[in-house]
Amino acid sequence: MAGVFDIDLESEDSSDAEDELCDFAVAETETEPREEVELTAASVNSERVGPECFELLTVLGKGAYGKVFQVRKVQGAQTGKIFAMKVLKKAKIVCNAKDTAHTKAERQILETVRHPFIVDLLYAFQTGGKLYLILECLSGGELFMQLEKEGIFMEDAACFYLGEIILALGHLHSKGIIYRDLKPENIMLNSHGHIKLTDFGLCKESIHDEAVTHTFCGTIEYMAPEILTRSGHNKAVDWWSLGAVMFDMMTGSPPFTAENRKKTIDKILKCKLVLPPYLTADAKDLIKKLLKKNPAQRLGSSKVDSADIQKHPFFRHINWDELLNKRVEPPYKPSLQSDEDVSQFDTRFTRQPPVDSPDDTSLSQSAEHAFAGFTYVAPSVLESLKEGFSFIPRARHIRRVNSSPRTPVSPLKFSLTEPFKSSTDGEAEQPEQATPPPLDKCTTQPIRTPGRTKKKKRPRNGR
Ligand code: ATP
Ligand code: MG
Repeated sequence: MAGVFDIDLESEDSSDAEDELCDFAVAETETEPREEVELTAASVNSERVGPECFELLTVLGKGAYGKVFQVRKVQGAQTGKIFAMKVLKKAKIVCNAKDTAHTKAERQILETVRHPFIVDLLYAFQTGGKLYLILECLSGGELFMQLEKEGIFMEDAACFYLGEIILALGHLHSKGIIYRDLKPENIMLNSHGHIKLTDFGLCKESIHDEAVTHTFCGTIEYMAPEILTRSGHNKAVDWWSLGAVMFDMMTGSPPFTAENRKKTIDKILKCKLVLPPYLTADAKDLIKKLLKKNPAQRLGSSKVDSADIQKHPFFRHINWDELLNKRVEPPYKPSLQSDEDVSQFDTRFTRQPPVDSPDDTSLSQSAEHAFAGFTYVAPSVLESLKEGFSFIPRARHIRRVNSSPRTPVSPLKFSLTEPFKSSTDGEAEQPEQATPPPLDKCTTQPIRTPGRTKKKKRPRNGR
């Protein structure tokens, strides 16, 4: 039976438990009397996503605000699938208004940005005390785990990884987002060995062209001089970090290091770049052009952004279309036995018991308000649900379509630049855009606040 989907697009009463439900009407045929079937979130048991939907398998990593687990979905859509679950403690985050903004920014950026080399966000939800991001699980681990095994990368391997990173950064810049935190531990590999950028806690949204921001954050060894001098920065900071990562890939450590933070800053600001003689002329030239202390002279700082870097002779063998479409074979394929294989992660984490301590701390109303709109279900998940609805109407209640005022919720309107719009007409204009229920009163306002100073981690030198 081919279902026709009418979304009930009328406004909601938030105090009513029923309002968590989404109603879909399924008409049997055009000629028969219209039979309407109500499908609710409860009946499809999919969108009510919470911690109970995930079985904790292993600890993959730890961040400033909580842990990242490997989990298996045990309820609803995608049951059995493996994901990564990033858990953040609200109480730690709300201590600092900037951190709250960054956490929301991470959720919003991940929601907005879809790219082959950027981690996919599938769900986001919250409990009283915690925020949860359900991400695709990047079982290839951190790129620099691979680098640790290899010592340094040969130029063709470095060229592949840098190429994929450039495409990801260029895409972010085209959306007005500066990544700002490009460093080894945020560059991960999926199970096939392709790059995936993670950790959007420090990204800055809506920084276009000449606009600059004055926030000091990021990890120091990969950080551009203009961030350290607080002289304002723009997207060129990401190209500096790319240069530092490139240097690290090809030599085994970042370009400017010292025994303490202050001396490292001094070196980044003042010291001349020293390049080892074994690098090819093209590699040396590219590193030099990316590590220009004056951002205006840095390769990539022009309007065309990444296009200038892509044209550099170091990348002359790259077919960028093929690379973007993942038709170039990665230099290393992570050796994995199954979806659950965590051999590419540090045993410091994977040996820990996977425990997400219950935390239903009640925050003050104003603090809680800071997390409004965090909940999210990816459009791709919604699509798969919609397909499910076509064939398995679970309930047979008759209801009148458009009989009560409800708010339209469409993933197509769920974008960074366009917050949800409420409609008062209550009409489902495009049945094919049927969507599942609102999980929360989401308003996705762009966040344009200064960033936080991240808890710094030393780069893993001495490989
Ligand atoms: P924040 O700056 O928000 O505090 P963080 O650095 O603490 O972020 P992440 O970088 O997002 O947190 O994650 C910490 C570690 O967890 C990563 O370095 C990585 O090893 C692991 N990890 C993160 N995301 C994933 C993922 N999607 N799949 C597998 N492992 C992940
Ligand atoms: Mg990180």
